[in-house]
Amino acid sequence: MEVLERISFSSLLNRSDVQALLRALLDGSISVLKPVLNQSGDFSYPEAEKIMGSSSRVVREILEALSEESILLKDIFVLTIACPYCGDNRLVVELACPHCDSTRLKIGATIEHLECGYIGFEEDVKNMVCPKCDKRIRALGIDYRKPGIMYRCLSCKEFTGSPRRKYTCLKEKHVFYEDEGVSKEVCSYGLNPEKKDLIGKWIMDLNPVAEALMAKGLLIKTPAKIRGRSGVEHTFSLFASGNNGNNIILVDVLINDKPIDESALSLIFKALDVDASRRVMVFVPGLTEKARALFDYYKVLPNMNIIECKNINEINNMVLDVLDNFIEVSPQIM
Ligand SMILES: [Zn+2]
Ligand SMILES: [Zn+2]
Ligand SMILES: [Zn+2]
Repeated sequence: MEVLERISFSSLLNRSDVQALLRALLDGSISVLKPVLNQSGDFSYPEAEKIMGSSSRVVREILEALSEESILLKDIFVLTIACPYCGDNRLVVELACPHCDSTRLKIGATIEHLECGYIGFEEDVKNMVCPKCDKRIRALGIDYRKPGIMYRCLSCKEFTGSPRRKYTCLKEKHVFYEDEGVSKEVCSYGLNPEKKDLIGKWIMDLNPVAEALMAKGLLIKTPAKIRGRSGVEHTFSLFASGNNGNNIILVDVLINDKPIDESALSLIFKALDVDASRRVMVFVPGLTEKARALFDYYKVLPNMNIIECKNINEINNMVLDVLDNFIEVSPQIM
Protein backbone atom coordinates (compact mmCIF):
# COMPACT_ATOMS: atom_id res chain seq x y z
CA MET A 1 0.00 0.00 0.00
CA GLU A 2 1.26 3.44 -0.87
CA VAL A 3 1.97 5.57 2.16
CA LEU A 4 1.84 9.32 2.09
CA GLU A 5 5.21 10.83 2.78
CA ARG A 6 4.97 12.32 6.23
CA ILE A 7 4.13 15.95 5.67
CA SER A 8 4.13 18.67 8.27
CA PHE A 9 0.96 19.79 9.99
CA SER A 10 1.26 23.19 8.34
CA SER A 11 1.68 21.92 4.78
CA LEU A 12 -1.17 19.47 5.34
CA LEU A 13 -3.57 22.18 6.51
CA ASN A 14 -2.49 24.58 3.77
CA ARG A 15 -3.45 22.16 1.03
CA SER A 16 -6.45 23.61 -0.75
CA ASP A 17 -8.18 20.20 -0.85
CA VAL A 18 -7.71 19.81 2.91
CA GLN A 19 -9.02 23.33 3.45
CA ALA A 20 -12.11 22.53 1.39
CA LEU A 21 -12.73 19.32 3.33
CA LEU A 22 -12.27 20.85 6.78
CA ARG A 23 -14.44 23.84 5.83
CA ALA A 24 -17.27 21.45 4.91
CA LEU A 25 -16.81 19.50 8.15
CA LEU A 26 -16.73 22.70 10.20
CA ASP A 27 -19.84 24.22 8.66
CA GLY A 28 -21.65 20.91 8.98
CA SER A 29 -22.36 20.38 5.28
CA ILE A 30 -20.82 16.96 5.78
CA SER A 31 -20.51 15.05 9.03
CA VAL A 32 -19.07 11.55 9.13
CA LEU A 33 -17.20 10.29 6.07
CA LYS A 34 -18.15 6.68 5.54
CA PRO A 35 -16.32 4.29 3.22
CA VAL A 36 -18.24 3.10 0.17
CA LEU A 37 -17.30 0.06 -1.87
CA ASN A 38 -16.60 1.25 -5.40
CA GLN A 39 -16.69 -0.39 -8.82
CA SER A 40 -13.05 -1.41 -8.68
CA GLY A 41 -13.53 -3.26 -5.38
CA ASP A 42 -11.84 -0.68 -3.19
CA PHE A 43 -13.33 1.35 -0.40
CA SER A 44 -13.39 5.06 -1.10
CA TYR A 45 -14.91 8.24 0.28
CA PRO A 46 -16.94 9.74 -2.60
CA GLU A 47 -18.27 12.65 -0.52
CA ALA A 48 -14.75 13.74 0.37
CA GLU A 49 -13.53 13.19 -3.20
CA LYS A 50 -16.24 15.47 -4.53
CA ILE A 51 -15.43 18.29 -2.10
CA MET A 52 -11.66 17.93 -2.41
CA GLY A 53 -11.48 17.29 -6.15
CA SER A 54 -8.80 14.67 -5.41
CA SER A 55 -8.38 11.02 -6.36
CA SER A 56 -9.57 8.15 -4.14
CA ARG A 57 -6.00 7.31 -3.23
CA VAL A 58 -5.06 10.87 -2.26
CA VAL A 59 -8.27 11.24 -0.25
CA ARG A 60 -7.57 8.01 1.68
CA GLU A 61 -4.03 9.16 2.45
CA ILE A 62 -5.15 12.60 3.56
CA LEU A 63 -7.90 11.27 5.83
CA GLU A 64 -5.31 9.00 7.42
CA ALA A 65 -2.81 11.87 7.80
CA LEU A 66 -5.49 14.08 9.37
CA SER A 67 -6.40 11.36 11.83
CA GLU A 68 -2.74 10.93 12.78
CA GLU A 69 -2.78 14.64 13.64
CA SER A 70 -5.99 14.03 15.70
CA ILE A 71 -7.84 16.53 13.50
CA LEU A 72 -10.16 13.71 12.48
CA LEU A 73 -11.24 10.82 14.65
CA LYS A 74 -11.48 7.47 12.98
CA ASP A 75 -13.73 4.60 13.79
CA ILE A 76 -13.65 1.06 12.43
CA PHE A 77 -16.43 0.70 9.87
CA VAL A 78 -15.68 -2.72 8.34
CA LEU A 79 -13.07 -5.38 8.85
CA THR A 80 -12.11 -6.99 5.56
CA ILE A 81 -9.69 -9.74 4.63
CA ALA A 82 -6.93 -8.90 2.19
CA CYS A 83 -4.38 -10.96 0.30
CA PRO A 84 -1.34 -11.54 2.58
CA TYR A 85 0.98 -11.24 -0.44
CA CYS A 86 -0.24 -8.11 -2.25
CA GLY A 87 -2.91 -6.51 -0.05
CA ASP A 88 -5.64 -6.79 -2.67
CA ASN A 89 -9.07 -7.09 -1.11
CA ARG A 90 -10.88 -8.20 -4.24
CA LEU A 91 -11.12 -11.91 -3.59
CA VAL A 92 -12.82 -14.92 -5.12
CA VAL A 93 -13.86 -17.49 -2.52
CA GLU A 94 -13.77 -21.23 -3.20
CA LEU A 95 -14.79 -23.94 -0.76
CA ALA A 96 -12.32 -26.80 -0.26
CA CYS A 97 -12.45 -30.19 1.44
CA PRO A 98 -10.71 -30.02 4.87
CA HIS A 99 -9.46 -33.59 4.37
CA CYS A 100 -7.96 -33.56 0.90
CA ASP A 101 -8.20 -29.89 -0.23
CA SER A 102 -10.30 -30.79 -3.29
CA THR A 103 -12.69 -28.09 -4.40
CA ARG A 104 -15.02 -30.70 -5.96
CA LEU A 105 -17.72 -30.37 -3.33
CA LYS A 106 -21.40 -31.10 -3.51
CA ILE A 107 -23.83 -29.39 -1.15
CA GLY A 108 -27.13 -30.78 0.12
CA ALA A 109 -29.45 -31.64 3.01
CA THR A 110 -28.30 -34.80 4.84
CA ILE A 111 -29.66 -37.74 6.76
CA GLU A 112 -27.75 -39.77 9.37
CA HIS A 113 -28.89 -43.33 10.09
CA LEU A 114 -28.08 -43.69 13.80
CA GLU A 115 -28.18 -47.51 13.78
CA CYS A 116 -25.31 -47.93 11.32
CA GLY A 117 -23.74 -44.46 11.22
CA TYR A 118 -24.59 -43.85 7.56
CA ILE A 119 -24.52 -40.19 6.50
CA GLY A 120 -25.78 -39.27 3.06
CA PHE A 121 -27.77 -36.75 1.09
CA GLU A 122 -31.51 -37.01 1.54
CA GLU A 123 -31.90 -37.51 -2.20
CA ASP A 124 -29.79 -40.71 -2.03
CA VAL A 125 -32.10 -42.35 0.50
CA LYS A 126 -34.88 -43.94 -1.54
CA ASN A 127 -38.16 -45.03 0.09
CA MET A 128 -36.63 -44.52 3.55
CA VAL A 129 -34.34 -47.52 3.21
CA CYS A 130 -30.73 -47.03 4.39
CA PRO A 131 -28.38 -47.48 1.41
CA LYS A 132 -25.68 -48.83 3.72
CA CYS A 133 -27.45 -51.42 5.92
CA ASP A 134 -30.65 -51.83 3.88
CA LYS A 135 -32.77 -51.44 7.01
CA ARG A 136 -35.91 -49.35 7.03
CA ILE A 137 -35.42 -45.86 8.47
CA ARG A 138 -38.34 -45.18 10.79
CA ALA A 139 -38.54 -42.15 13.06
CA LEU A 140 -36.75 -38.83 13.18
CA GLY A 141 -34.87 -38.42 16.44
CA ILE A 142 -35.22 -42.16 17.23
CA ASP A 143 -33.24 -44.02 14.60
CA TYR A 144 -32.21 -41.18 12.32
CA ARG A 145 -31.47 -37.46 12.46
CA LYS A 146 -30.99 -34.63 10.02
CA PRO A 147 -27.59 -32.99 10.52
CA GLY A 148 -28.58 -30.24 8.08
CA ILE A 149 -26.79 -28.85 5.07
CA MET A 150 -23.40 -30.50 4.51
CA TYR A 151 -20.76 -30.75 1.85
CA ARG A 152 -19.55 -33.97 0.31
CA CYS A 153 -16.14 -34.14 -1.26
CA LEU A 154 -16.40 -35.86 -4.63
CA SER A 155 -12.70 -36.73 -4.46
CA CYS A 156 -12.35 -38.40 -1.03
CA LYS A 157 -16.12 -38.92 -0.39
CA GLU A 158 -15.93 -37.40 3.11
CA PHE A 159 -18.73 -35.22 4.46
CA THR A 160 -18.04 -31.96 6.19
CA GLY A 161 -20.18 -29.23 7.72
CA SER A 162 -17.42 -26.63 7.52
CA PRO A 163 -15.30 -26.64 4.39
CA ARG A 164 -12.15 -24.50 4.26
CA ARG A 165 -12.39 -21.17 2.54
CA LYS A 166 -9.78 -20.73 -0.11
CA TYR A 167 -9.26 -17.23 -1.50
CA THR A 168 -7.74 -16.06 -4.75
CA CYS A 169 -6.88 -12.37 -5.13
CA LEU A 170 -7.94 -10.82 -8.40
CA LYS A 171 -4.83 -8.68 -8.74
CA GLU A 172 -2.11 -11.35 -8.74
CA LYS A 173 -4.09 -14.62 -8.41
CA HIS A 174 -2.40 -15.41 -5.09
CA VAL A 175 -4.07 -18.31 -3.28
CA PHE A 176 -4.40 -18.40 0.51
CA TYR A 177 -6.73 -19.71 3.22
CA GLU A 178 -8.97 -17.67 5.47
CA ASP A 179 -6.64 -17.94 8.48
CA GLU A 180 -3.70 -16.70 6.38
CA GLY A 181 -5.43 -13.55 5.16
CA VAL A 182 -4.52 -10.23 6.71
CA SER A 183 -7.38 -8.31 8.21
CA LYS A 184 -7.71 -4.75 7.11
CA GLU A 185 -9.70 -2.12 8.97
CA VAL A 186 -11.66 0.27 6.83
CA CYS A 187 -12.58 3.34 8.85
CA SER A 188 -15.04 6.18 8.88
CA TYR A 189 -13.74 9.64 9.76
CA GLY A 190 -15.31 12.56 11.59
CA LEU A 191 -14.10 15.90 12.91
CA ASN A 192 -12.52 15.80 16.37
CA PRO A 193 -14.74 18.25 18.33
CA GLU A 194 -11.79 19.17 20.56
CA LYS A 195 -9.87 20.47 17.54
CA LYS A 196 -12.61 22.75 16.20
CA ASP A 197 -11.06 25.92 17.62
CA LEU A 198 -7.63 25.02 16.33
CA ILE A 199 -8.93 24.22 12.85
CA GLY A 200 -10.93 27.45 12.84
CA LYS A 201 -7.64 29.35 12.97
CA TRP A 202 -6.43 27.60 9.83
CA ILE A 203 -9.45 27.38 7.59
CA MET A 204 -10.02 30.49 5.54
CA ASP A 205 -12.93 31.32 3.38
CA LEU A 206 -12.14 33.47 0.36
CA ASN A 207 -15.80 33.74 -0.62
CA PRO A 208 -16.02 37.50 0.10
CA VAL A 209 -13.10 38.10 -2.30
CA ALA A 210 -14.58 35.72 -4.86
CA GLU A 211 -17.98 37.43 -4.70
CA ALA A 212 -16.53 40.92 -4.98
CA LEU A 213 -14.50 39.93 -8.05
CA MET A 214 -17.46 38.18 -9.64
CA ALA A 215 -19.51 41.33 -9.14
CA LYS A 216 -16.86 43.09 -11.23
CA GLY A 217 -17.43 40.59 -14.01
CA LEU A 218 -14.45 38.33 -13.42
CA LEU A 219 -14.55 34.55 -13.62
CA ILE A 220 -13.40 32.85 -10.43
CA LYS A 221 -11.92 29.50 -9.50
CA THR A 222 -11.20 28.77 -5.86
CA PRO A 223 -9.11 26.78 -5.30
CA ALA A 224 -7.62 26.61 -8.78
CA LYS A 225 -5.22 24.24 -10.48
CA ILE A 226 -3.18 26.09 -13.10
CA ARG A 227 -0.39 24.82 -15.31
CA GLY A 228 2.64 27.10 -15.18
CA ARG A 229 5.10 28.01 -17.94
CA SER A 230 7.38 25.24 -16.61
CA GLY A 231 4.65 22.68 -17.33
CA VAL A 232 4.13 22.01 -13.62
CA GLU A 233 0.57 22.18 -12.31
CA HIS A 234 0.19 24.51 -9.33
CA THR A 235 -2.69 25.03 -6.95
CA PHE A 236 -3.66 28.56 -5.93
CA SER A 237 -6.15 29.66 -3.33
CA LEU A 238 -7.97 31.75 -5.93
CA PHE A 239 -7.72 32.47 -9.63
CA ALA A 240 -9.67 35.21 -11.39
CA SER A 241 -9.73 36.19 -15.03
CA GLY A 242 -11.65 38.40 -17.41
CA ASN A 243 -13.98 36.92 -20.01
CA ASN A 244 -11.25 37.03 -22.63
CA GLY A 245 -8.87 35.08 -20.36
CA ASN A 246 -6.80 38.22 -19.73
CA ASN A 247 -6.40 40.23 -16.55
CA ILE A 248 -5.48 37.22 -14.52
CA ILE A 249 -5.37 37.61 -10.75
CA LEU A 250 -3.73 34.99 -8.56
CA VAL A 251 -4.31 34.90 -4.83
CA ASP A 252 -2.35 32.50 -2.69
CA VAL A 253 -2.61 32.20 1.07
CA LEU A 254 -0.17 30.47 3.39
CA ILE A 255 -1.20 30.00 7.01
CA ASN A 256 1.05 28.97 9.85
CA ASP A 257 1.02 28.88 13.65
CA LYS A 258 4.13 31.07 13.85
CA PRO A 259 5.72 33.71 11.56
CA ILE A 260 6.59 32.22 8.20
CA ASP A 261 10.25 31.91 7.29
CA GLU A 262 12.11 32.20 3.99
CA SER A 263 11.10 28.66 2.97
CA ALA A 264 7.90 30.33 1.74
CA LEU A 265 9.91 31.73 -1.15
CA SER A 266 8.80 28.67 -3.12
CA LEU A 267 5.30 30.15 -3.06
CA ILE A 268 6.54 33.25 -4.84
CA PHE A 269 8.38 31.19 -7.45
CA LYS A 270 5.19 29.21 -7.98
CA ALA A 271 3.22 32.41 -8.58
CA LEU A 272 5.89 33.73 -10.95
CA ASP A 273 5.60 30.53 -13.01
CA VAL A 274 2.07 31.52 -14.08
CA ASP A 275 1.30 34.47 -16.33
CA ALA A 276 -0.76 36.95 -14.36
CA SER A 277 -1.50 40.66 -14.24
CA ARG A 278 -1.61 40.58 -10.46
CA ARG A 279 -0.27 38.18 -7.88
CA VAL A 280 -1.38 38.56 -4.27
CA MET A 281 0.53 36.52 -1.76
CA VAL A 282 -0.90 36.40 1.76
CA PHE A 283 1.05 35.22 4.78
CA VAL A 284 -0.67 34.53 8.11
CA PRO A 285 0.37 35.41 10.83
CA GLY A 286 3.16 37.28 8.99
CA LEU A 287 6.80 36.80 8.03
CA THR A 288 9.99 36.45 10.02
CA GLU A 289 12.46 39.35 9.83
CA LYS A 290 14.68 37.36 7.53
CA ALA A 291 11.86 36.39 5.20
CA ARG A 292 10.58 39.97 5.13
CA ALA A 293 14.02 41.25 4.11
CA LEU A 294 14.21 38.62 1.40
CA PHE A 295 10.67 39.23 0.14
CA ASP A 296 11.25 43.01 -0.06
CA TYR A 297 12.92 42.35 -3.38
CA TYR A 298 9.79 40.72 -4.79
CA LYS A 299 7.52 43.33 -3.26
CA VAL A 300 8.80 45.88 -5.73
CA LEU A 301 7.78 43.78 -8.72
CA PRO A 302 4.97 45.77 -10.30
CA ASN A 303 2.47 42.92 -10.35
CA MET A 304 3.18 41.39 -6.95
CA ASN A 305 1.58 42.16 -3.61
CA ILE A 306 2.91 40.55 -0.47
CA ILE A 307 0.49 40.89 2.40
CA GLU A 308 1.03 39.93 6.02
CA CYS A 309 -2.14 39.26 8.04
CA LYS A 310 -2.21 38.69 11.79
CA ASN A 311 -5.01 36.15 11.49
CA ILE A 312 -7.30 34.65 8.91
CA ASN A 313 -10.12 37.11 9.65
CA GLU A 314 -8.09 39.92 8.07
CA ILE A 315 -7.44 38.10 4.80
CA ASN A 316 -10.53 39.08 2.80
CA ASN A 317 -10.41 42.80 3.62
CA MET A 318 -6.70 43.12 2.99
CA VAL A 319 -6.88 41.24 -0.33
CA LEU A 320 -9.85 43.33 -1.43
CA ASP A 321 -8.05 46.58 -0.53
CA VAL A 322 -5.19 45.64 -2.82
CA LEU A 323 -7.40 44.39 -5.62
CA ASP A 324 -9.88 47.32 -5.52
CA ASN A 325 -6.93 49.52 -6.17
CA PHE A 326 -5.76 47.31 -9.01
CA ILE A 327 -9.17 47.05 -10.63
CA GLU A 328 -9.63 50.81 -10.49
CA VAL A 329 -6.40 51.44 -12.31
CA SER A 330 -7.13 48.70 -14.87
CA PRO A 331 -10.40 49.82 -16.42
CA GLN A 332 -10.19 47.20 -19.16
CA ILE A 333 -11.18 44.58 -16.57
CA MET A 334 -14.62 46.06 -16.04
ZN1 LIG B 1 -2.48 -11.14 -3.96
ZN1 LIG C 1 -11.76 -34.57 0.12
ZN1 LIG D 1 -28.10 -47.96 7.91
